[in-house]
Amino acid sequence: MKIIDTHIHYSRHEGFAETAKESGQVNTADAVAKNFTANGVIMAIAMGTGRSDENSEICEPMRPDLGGEVTLQNYGIDSHIAYCAGVDSGAITPQNTSKSLEMFERFLQTPQCVGLKFYPGYHHLYLSDKRHYPFFELAAAYDVPVVIHSGDTAGNRGQVKYSHPLTIDEVAVDFPQTRFVLAHYGNPWIVDATEVAAKNENVSIDLSGLAAGVIDHAVFLEQFRGYIEHLKTWMAYLGNWEKFMYGSDYPLVNIGEYIKVIQAIVPEQHHEKVFYANALQIFSKLRAYQLIMEML
Ligand SMILES: [Zn+2]
Repeated sequence: MKIIDTHIHYSRHEGFAETAKESGQVNTADAVAKNFTANGVIMAIAMGTGRSDENSEICEPMRPDLGGEVTLQNYGIDSHIAYCAGVDSGAITPQNTSKSLEMFERFLQTPQCVGLKFYPGYHHLYLSDKRHYPFFELAAAYDVPVVIHSGDTAGNRGQVKYSHPLTIDEVAVDFPQTRFVLAHYGNPWIVDATEVAAKNENVSIDLSGLAAGVIDHAVFLEQFRGYIEHLKTWMAYLGNWEKFMYGSDYPLVNIGEYIKVIQAIVPEQHHEKVFYANALQIFSKLRAYQLIMEML
């Protein structure tokens, strides 16, 4: 089975080496490539993580930085990795907004940058904060989705009132031309995330981060039987399998086993869509990126 992993981390940022260790992996570009090849993952989307450079006068896009120096045109090194430029909400000011947008635009003009990523729970700002509005318009103009870390936050510094999936409804309604992706299915607010995605045509869901650490799929499925049934119930309730995309949150989990967990949750007849085809629709730049990579 061909797989596109729509949510990974590919970063030297502190914490990822440790997290990778906890899931029995190593946080290197080499290990990612080997791991992905072994599991049929042909492409992945890395989430720009961290903070904007505080010495910069603008809100710098956060990019994945594990595979050597990442420059604007440097998409040859990690050819299987596309990315979402991370937005450090706290670094956006009225004074630097237009310059910051210009910088994001430069990245969006490259094939490898296929979306924007927001972290409202970590940045203690609602997604509906007006400073974000021009970024949603930019995403629509470039036909790329806005991915939101939704639901629980890692560690206790985040504030989950900002990352609750219900907070996405407001912007989904106000920006009908922009596509939004609820990362982590708003976990544990699965019911709320389901409603937001069911009601809004422009909202979809990634299934990353529903398990972490070294897992064994059979043990996990048995141990969390009630949770698994809950997921299945609400996914069936939503009933639109074009809204779900596989993602892992690598390196937070051992991906071979995680793939098996998601395969067990998603009915088999929808695997092709959830593990592959939906990503090409929602991250619409991926198809072009894939073609360029095949030509190199
Ligand atoms: Zn993540």
